[in-house]
Amino acid sequence: MIAIHGCTEEDLKKSLGEMGQPPFRAQQIFSWIFQKRATTWAAMTNLSSHLRTTLSQQFRLSSLKCVRSVRSDDETIKYLWELHDGALVESVLIQAPERRTICVSSQVGCNAKCAFCASGKQGLIRNLSAAEIVEQFLLIDAELAKNGEKLSHVVFMGMGEPLDNYDEVVKAIRLITDPKGINLSQRRITLSTVGVVEGIRKLMLEELKINLALSLHAPNQQIRKKIIPYARKYELSDVLAAISDYSRATKRDITYEYTLISGINDREEDAIELAKLIKGQQCSVNLIPYNPVFGLRLKRPEKEEIERFEEILAEAKIPTTRRYTKGTKIAAACGQLALYEKNATVHK
Ligand code: SF4
Repeated sequence: MIAIHGCTEEDLKKSLGEMGQPPFRAQQIFSWIFQKRATTWAAMTNLSSHLRTTLSQQFRLSSLKCVRSVRSDDETIKYLWELHDGALVESVLIQAPERRTICVSSQVGCNAKCAFCASGKQGLIRNLSAAEIVEQFLLIDAELAKNGEKLSHVVFMGMGEPLDNYDEVVKAIRLITDPKGINLSQRRITLSTVGVVEGIRKLMLEELKINLALSLHAPNQQIRKKIIPYARKYELSDVLAAISDYSRATKRDITYEYTLISGINDREEDAIELAKLIKGQQCSVNLIPYNPVFGLRLKRPEKEEIERFEEILAEAKIPTTRRYTKGTKIAAACGQLALYEKNATVHK
């Protein structure tokens, strides 16, 4: 069966053409799914009942089932989804004034195995399809619609390295931003990568105006290698060159994500080196004090160390924000809820 949320209008035209249907049927169905957000075939009232029955035999209308949703004090809500094959992934809804952001997953598990991350602990289980990514958006948007709200931003910062699932992620971005469908502005989408150089360079040629965030987490290659195994494959200088070319080609500022981990990358000299590394770029740094992950021994730095790090960047005039992972109490850092669920399942 074909998952309908991964179909572009062109895909639908092709499939419906093979069924002897005219192209305008594809436009109608695309609009029902992505604009009017139909969740049943019966809702598609301008299609004959015979066609609806045929469609229901060929297309899957739903691939995700909500297993659990957990709300934190700060109104961050984490959703755990079961996929059609039983795999688990999660999305996080981050609610801030005037913003409703969904953090989507792009893979089940992750091959990058960063030292501080719950998703990496599982290794890669499989890629998500574009349909499974788009459906995370549609299901949470439908929840918000009950209160007259809607999603305003998307970040690819959930489970997985998005550029390791390049084709499906780009397809999902095109579906979410299609003017005839969901129509979210490309500028409201941020893709976070650990630094997959060939993926960044390929993305640059897509003519998408999406934002790029680099999970930098270290001021030099030596420290980076300790916490990000992918750094052994990609030299920091090559990653930074690719990021800088992307920024120039798309005219988008770069965000550097920097998780502060006690005793690893949080010293004053690390902050000074980081400031030197990125000074002069159109960029900002997002400092994220490490959020404890079940089963990992890493520690969050003390408040004074975090503040000192921030001060050094401010003195170097590097725009910096500090983000305490929203929803700490609900294990909102990527992959944690799925990891808890998996362990809970294993121990049942
Ligand atoms: S931080 Fe991101 S890239 Fe690294 S293991 Fe976790 S999900 Fe993968």
